[in-house]
Amino acid sequence: RFIVFEGIDGSGKTTQAQILANRIREAGRIVHVTSEPTNSPIGNLIRQGMTGRIQLDDRVIAALFAADRIDHLTNHTDGILDLLASGCTVISDRYYFSSYAYHTDYTGQAWVKHANAIAEGLLRADLTIYLDISPDIAVERLSKGRSFQERYERLDRLVSVRNSYEQAFRDADDTENIVIVDGHGDVESTSKSVWAVVEQHLTA
Ligand code: ATP
Ligand code: C5P
Ligand code: MG
Repeated sequence: RFIVFEGIDGSGKTTQAQILANRIREAGRIVHVTSEPTNSPIGNLIRQGMTGRIQLDDRVIAALFAADRIDHLTNHTDGILDLLASGCTVISDRYYFSSYAYHTDYTGQAWVKHANAIAEGLLRADLTIYLDISPDIAVERLSKGRSFQERYERLDRLVSVRNSYEQAFRDADDTENIVIVDGHGDVESTSKSVWAVVEQHLTA
């Protein structure tokens, strides 16, 4: 099984991915938690580009994200395809819907769809859980100690990313299994909602 968490920054993906992995482990299955951008050389390049340590055009970063995703699927050390083939459950913190939400402004939607068609063709998630949270609550969670200006910029961006996610889900192929989970509650109540969704969708 391949389960993906999506959501804007601060929606709780990393927190909920860990909790879900523990629950599945307790149920006796082998679980691997992974995330994008990955820790591969391509993922490291992406992080250096995003933090400005190296100068990369936003379109180059979008292309690297698509390459990082193909590597994430196919590499023979800890690639998702091999892990799934070995019977492991894989949980990914972000997958191609993140690219549809974060990269369409500067590449156009057609390009980002085209670039990710390879990953889509290789593997769709059995279940994509979108943790839905209002951007102002997300910024509240993320921005302890930041200036008003930084908070404002982040809020503005997350409003646009959330709209893009909603658009991407409307445009998604009918065979995609996308479930929206309210992310506003506390960690525990959200994890209960996530578990209910996983039980309902994956234990048939
Ligand atoms: P990012 O996209 O930036 O990696 P994320 O979606 O992975 O964010 P988390 O890192 O899980 O989000 O959570 C963001 C912050 O909010 C963390 O400090 C985390 O401890 C806290 N947090 C997570 N879930 C909740 C919750 N339900 N209620 C309150 N705070 C939360
Ligand atoms: O989820 P995480 O916070 O680790 O992701 C790091 C950053 O990378 C996010 O803040 C998001 O803005 C960005 N990102 C992106 N495109 C993706 C995945 C993540 O721009 N496909
Ligand atoms: Mg995270």
